[in-house]
Amino acid sequence: MSISNIPAGIHNFNAGPSVLPHTVFEQAAQAILDYNGSGLSILELGHRTSAFEAVMAEARSLVKALMNLDEAHEVLFLHGGATTQFMQVPMNLLDDKETAAYTDTGVWGAKAIKEAKLFGKAEVVCSSRESNYTYIPKDFAVPNDARYLHITTNNTIYGTQWQTIPHTSNVLVADMSSDILSRVLDFNRFDLIYAGAQKNIGAAGVNLVVVNRNILGRIKRPIPTIMDYRNHIREGSMLNTPPVFAVYVCLLTLRWLKAQGGVAVMEQLNNAKATLLYDTLDSLPIFRGTVNKEDRSKMNAVFVMDDPALETAFLDVCKAAGIVGIKGHRSVGGFRASMYNALSLDSVTVLTGLMKDFAQRRG
Ligand SMILES: *Cc1c(COP(=O)(O)O)cnc(C)c1O
Repeated sequence: MSISNIPAGIHNFNAGPSVLPHTVFEQAAQAILDYNGSGLSILELGHRTSAFEAVMAEARSLVKALMNLDEAHEVLFLHGGATTQFMQVPMNLLDDKETAAYTDTGVWGAKAIKEAKLFGKAEVVCSSRESNYTYIPKDFAVPNDARYLHITTNNTIYGTQWQTIPHTSNVLVADMSSDILSRVLDFNRFDLIYAGAQKNIGAAGVNLVVVNRNILGRIKRPIPTIMDYRNHIREGSMLNTPPVFAVYVCLLTLRWLKAQGGVAVMEQLNNAKATLLYDTLDSLPIFRGTVNKEDRSKMNAVFVMDDPALETAFLDVCKAAGIVGIKGHRSVGGFRASMYNALSLDSVTVLTGLMKDFAQRRG
């Protein structure tokens, strides 16, 4: 389970864009200079060439295999970040007078709700907003006639994560931008999954979308050509020029993931990292986690100190040790350690070592 991913001395805890395997950087750099000995850069390769069609096909089949998807689930690589999906999902699934159920568990979920309201009724079935999103709501009901239920599986900013996926008879839609392929789930239970690539699967500029084709084509609204999932399925994500380089970086990351042993191995590694970080946090009173323990995210750990001067001092210690991206999001403050797939256990060991040392000296 050891991952060699250490550009000397840097430990990248950025929330996104974020750490990727070092081998991916090397291969991507090589492909910019000369793609597979073709004499051409990946950046100047036509997307309708057999060389790029092979990239797209392999990326698609790796996603299918890594997620264990059944025949009904289609894999798409689309332009734009997850934010585009906030609009594209309701545009494809929700008619004017219909209702969709949304869970309000963070800023990203709230943004998805705002967009859905442009297309139909977005009913908020639960919310933890009043506590600044420190927990995942457990008891809520979804109206039977809701066209779909939308959840954000991992709340990147606040550091909460759905540990169990709600059982629902409704169509299930998930924003998995910050925990896609980080843990074993029954992905076939979801009818639509979307994820901006820049947190766990590649470079910014492309979305992974997994969609059950049976949920499409049921609404009356005319959908603009480029927004209609069915057109992208038909054209194999090549309705227009795809983000060629971003897709290629996804392919390299997916190959790396498979070589590590797949999602189950990632989950073990992510569990080990999160356990080390949270156990350290809980053993040091100078640091304080900000969310419900049972809802803690294994991808983004958020914690604070009660004294702002100490927070500044600890940030300086981190910086001196080569730790980057640890400063918390402005809406929470303190610290956020993002521990995506490609972050090594070594990096977390360095961080927790600094935390213990700091607590001993300043606690
Ligand atoms: C980062 C993030 C987004 C926004 O992604 P963009 O690619 O910037 O549009 C949406 N949802 C979640 C859960 C995120 O972590």
